[in-house]
Amino acid sequence: MFNCKSIIRLQLYLLLSLFYSSRFGEDITVMSAFNLLHLVTKNQPIALRACGLPSGSCRDKKNYKVVFSQEELKKRLTPLQYHVTQEKGTESAFAGNYTDNKSDGTYKCVVCGIPLFKSEAKFDSGSGWPSFYDVISPDVITFTDDFSYGMHRVETSCFQCGAHLGHIFDDGPHPTGKRYCINSASLSFVAKEMDCMQEESSPASSEKTEL
Ligand SMILES: [Zn+2]
Repeated sequence: MFNCKSIIRLQLYLLLSLFYSSRFGEDITVMSAFNLLHLVTKNQPIALRACGLPSGSCRDKKNYKVVFSQEELKKRLTPLQYHVTQEKGTESAFAGNYTDNKSDGTYKCVVCGIPLFKSEAKFDSGSGWPSFYDVISPDVITFTDDFSYGMHRVETSCFQCGAHLGHIFDDGPHPTGKRYCINSASLSFVAKEMDCMQEESSPASSEKTEL
């Protein structure tokens, strides 16, 4: 129906119509298609906002039995202890204080002081971190799925205060077959004879003597 010449004529007609309509203001609808975009972009610029997280959304707020202020913990804990327990950090392998500790006693949460592991359940895993095949009581530790670093692990944290402890694996020795891989920085160790003497003291004071 239309050849090239007729199409070119049609285009010329449209251009001429646009010229005259915009010049004399007779047909606003023809010019509106061209000017609308300009008006929109000129009068309604796109507002770009910084893409930030709402305040406080980086930490899970859970109702733990014992809650400490971050300011207090920064004063009381070493930078490494704070990083590991509060920011889910990991100490370097073979660098922790208790990796090779073979003394009899109790390992407590360095933040709140609740007893977590007995030395009887500690074994040498060769991993570079203190390893236990069992906890003092099953209700002192919280287990959470951890998908960081592109793998699935089960994080262990203190049930009472939420401090990050480490992870649990299924390659431990008998009788449980579990391996609690725990950061030394999350623990305070109280030797057996000292444990009896400090039972009446507060958790905070016992931690300070350990640190
Ligand atoms: Zn704790």
